[in-house]
Amino acid sequence: MRRQKTRKIIQLVSLLLFPVTLNYFSPYLVIQGSFEGVLSGSGVLFLSQFLTALFFGRAFCGWLCPAGGLQHVCSGIVNKPPAKWQRWIKYIIWVPWLGAILAGFITAGGLKRMDVLYYTESGISVSAPGSYIVYFFVVGLIVLLSLTLGRRAFCHTACWMAPFMIIGTTMKEKLRLPALRLQADPDKCIRCGACDRQCPMSLSVSAMVSTGTMFHSDCVLCAGCADCCPKGVIRLRLAVKSAHDLN
Ligand code: SF4
Ligand code: SF4
Ligand code: SF4
Repeated sequence: MRRQKTRKIIQLVSLLLFPVTLNYFSPYLVIQGSFEGVLSGSGVLFLSQFLTALFFGRAFCGWLCPAGGLQHVCSGIVNKPPAKWQRWIKYIIWVPWLGAILAGFITAGGLKRMDVLYYTESGISVSAPGSYIVYFFVVGLIVLLSLTLGRRAFCHTACWMAPFMIIGTTMKEKLRLPALRLQADPDKCIRCGACDRQCPMSLSVSAMVSTGTMFHSDCVLCAGCADCCPKGVIRLRLAVKSAHDLN
């Protein structure tokens, strides 16, 4: 499918650019910046992820994230779904981390300025040999979790960005905003299970189809389920109606 090929090429390019973009995803630099009253590039990205999730759900995860591309490569080696309980681990990390950022801004007397290029060398993250240590640590952690806990385990258990988008996409659904959504026609489904096997987030897509609930906060809108369905049951499209509404 052309759409899936395009998606994989975008993910690959994003992965190759990871040494350049690393600091824009940094959970550490946003804290460091906050204690100086500075909103770092990573802070800007996290806010953008929340805001874009209101209209595009978690499409960032499905299409643009370098860690998503890396985990896709790992799923070629270990493709078991991670245990469901592991998904709570990220919130245990996220809540105190967010608290540290807020404490930083309070200590600094509020937001003083925004610096998108904060702690980069003319916008490039890994510009000195020492920076490669951080880069290989992050890449190693993502690979290790994926190969031990299962498919997209880093997304489910450790990602500090995921909660921003989970909150954004859940708000999108509750407020019924016009947005990118999955929609399905359950009458056409032959229960072949191809969509379940295809889903990178290990969702039970066929169950979502049969109940007519085409929303899940873990869905990254990759359209893999839509593109593999032999009956064209699922579609990804911009829609005003809630994904809970059947056609
Ligand atoms: S959950 Fe995190 S690591 Fe996974 S694709 Fe989304 S932003 Fe990337
Ligand atoms: S439900 Fe479909 S669009 Fe969502 S993550 Fe799974 S395969 Fe991708
Ligand atoms: S791939 Fe299509 S036909 Fe098969 S179970 Fe999923 S929605 Fe139904």
